Amino acid sequence: MNQQQLLELDQAIRHWLKGLDDIIPNLIADMHTETKLNKFDLVTNVDRMIQDQFEAFINEHYPDHQLFGEEKNNDLVDAKHGDVWVMDPIDGTANLVKQKTDYCIILSYFSEGEPLLAYIYDYPHHTLYKAIKGEGAFENEVRMPKVAPLHINDAILSYNLYVINEQTQADLKNAAFSYRLIGSCGLDSLRVMKGQFGAHINTNAKPWDISAQFLFSEELGLKMTNLKNEPIDFALGGPFIISNPGCHEAVLEILNRDGGYEVNKNS
Ligand code: NAP
Ligand code: CA
Ligand code: CA
Repeated sequence: MNQQQLLELDQAIRHWLKGLDDIIPNLIADMHTETKLNKFDLVTNVDRMIQDQFEAFINEHYPDHQLFGEEKNNDLVDAKHGDVWVMDPIDGTANLVKQKTDYCIILSYFSEGEPLLAYIYDYPHHTLYKAIKGEGAFENEVRMPKVAPLHINDAILSYNLYVINEQTQADLKNAAFSYRLIGSCGLDSLRVMKGQFGAHINTNAKPWDISAQFLFSEELGLKMTNLKNEPIDFALGGPFIISNPGCHEAVLEILNRDGGYEVNKNS
């Protein structure tokens, strides 16, 4: 695909995403919630309908593209080959259900395993963030600046308290300026992209939680690695940190100190 075709694809996807403004209010008005694996693992008609509508859209307009989505079976998807869309139709479903805010749609396009387009749609604030390979990252079509380096002492760090042991939490709090968590991997990551947070960690990220962050990190000069400072396989996910370059190594040093961050490290 040449750059002109990529820009045309971006235009079509942005048009589709803005079309969600007409359907989401009615879906939320009629929202019903189900649990999947456990009481925290929620899905609603909103998640399912957004993904179904996107699948119908690509089937109609790009029939040779594949969809790798949270709310479907992906056994037949070959994520590393061809044209692949990775979608989290609602990231922050618990926030949508409990607070009606602080959720987003994460959507990314990979060609032969390379990220070329990435979107995070902060629907409650009607703000669409996008990254285009080689063109940069944009907030509602306004170019986003690269972040200034942030030392860990000045950084707000974001991670889920259930999955980091108390000693590691204490060490992170002592080293950092403070702690905050929004509860949406996409929106917590966005705070890092905008220079507001120093880092966001998810110790068990799925491919759809982090698909857009690869290209945003590339275009904005952020660090995105696993917790051993190695590259992440986008088709597998796993332990994940997105970080300001000024504090990435310091945060990883603390996470890996004295046997690591895991909750039951001594058992
Ligand atoms: P939550 O509000 O349900 O979710 C917060 C964010 O984490 C969302 O982006 C969510 O994506 C994602 N997420 C949901 N379940 C996850 C999981 N099991 N592992 C990794 N990411 C997950 O989070 P919560 O209410 O604080 O926690 C719910 C359960 O998920 C708890 O058992 C918690 O330990 C676990 N969790 C683990 C991590 C981790 O870093 N390992 C992070 C978050 C939550 P969706 O909205 O698309 O589901
Ligand atoms: Ca998610
Ligand atoms: Ca989701």
